[in-house]
Amino acid sequence: MTDFVWSIDDAGLGGEVLVEATRRMADFLESRSLRATWLVVPKPNGQPLSPDWLAVLRTARDRGHDLQLHGLTHADCFEFGPPAWPAITIRPAFVEEFTQRREELMARYTVANLRARIEEGMEIFRRELEIEPILFRAPCGAISQAMFTALAQVGIGYHSCQYISGTGYNHLPHNSGDLTPVWSDAIPHRPFRWYADVIEAPILNEYTWRGSGLRSAEFSQLARQDVARIVQESPVAVILMHTHGIADDFDHACRMVDAVVAQTASLGGHGFATLAALVHSGALGAAATLLGPQSLEI
Ligand SMILES: [Zn+2]
Repeated sequence: MTDFVWSIDDAGLGGEVLVEATRRMADFLESRSLRATWLVVPKPNGQPLSPDWLAVLRTARDRGHDLQLHGLTHADCFEFGPPAWPAITIRPAFVEEFTQRREELMARYTVANLRARIEEGMEIFRRELEIEPILFRAPCGAISQAMFTALAQVGIGYHSCQYISGTGYNHLPHNSGDLTPVWSDAIPHRPFRWYADVIEAPILNEYTWRGSGLRSAEFSQLARQDVARIVQESPVAVILMHTHGIADDFDHACRMVDAVVAQTASLGGHGFATLAALVHSGALGAAATLLGPQSLEI
C-alpha cells in the first residue's frame, strides 16, 4: 500500500492571484476529503507574510492541512545550495547566473549561515502560525551538505526535494515535448536516509507546471503511468504542485488531482496523507530503508 502526498510549493510568495489559487485549491482538495502539505516561504523576498496570506494559511491549518518550511526568503533559487536538476531544465539560465555569482553564493553555504536562515523561518512559523516545523524543502531543489547538517542541528529530520522524474517539465518550449515517463536512477524511488541522517522523501513528478494545461489529457496519462509504477516501488509517493501552476490553469490542476485519485482507486488499497501525518505515524521513517547516494559536491 502506498500513501500519496499532495505537496504544494511557494505558499506565502506573490500577491492576491496566488492567495486566491491557494484558497480555491484547499477548498477543492477538501471537497475530495484530501489535505495537502503546503510548503510555505516564511519571509517571502525578505518581507513579512502578508495579512491575506496569513489568513488563508491559518484557515488551511485549522482545516487539517499541513504547513512546512520552504526556505526563508526564496528571493533567488540558490538559497541553500547551487542549482540542481530539474530546476535547470525549467530555467537553464540558472547555471549562468550561479556562475556569475559563484563567489557570493558559495560563501553562503556554511552550516552557521544556513542554520540561522532555518531558525529564523522556524521562529516565524511559531509566532505567526503556531506551528513547529518538522520538514523542510529547499527552494528550487538547491541543496548542500551544510544544509543537511544545519537541519539536523535544529531538529528537523525530514526533507523533500529530490525528483524521481522531471518529465512533467518536458512540455516547456525549450525542452523535448516528449511526455513519455522517464525516471531517474540517481536516487532511490522511495524515502531514504541521507546526509546528517535526515530522511529524504523524494518527489515523484509535477503535472501542473505552467503551460501543462494545454496538454491536460497527456498529463493525465503521464500521472496514471507514474502512479501505477510507484505503487510497486514505494510505500510513500510525494506529488508536487506550485501555487503559480495551479493559478495558471485551475481546472487542469483539479483534473490532475482527480486523475491520480481515480488511478489509486483503480489499483486498490492506496491512500492519501500529509507529510506531517506520515512523520507522526512513523510511516515516513519506516519507509526509509535505504541510504541515499553521496552525490552532493558541496
Ligand atoms: Zn519554490
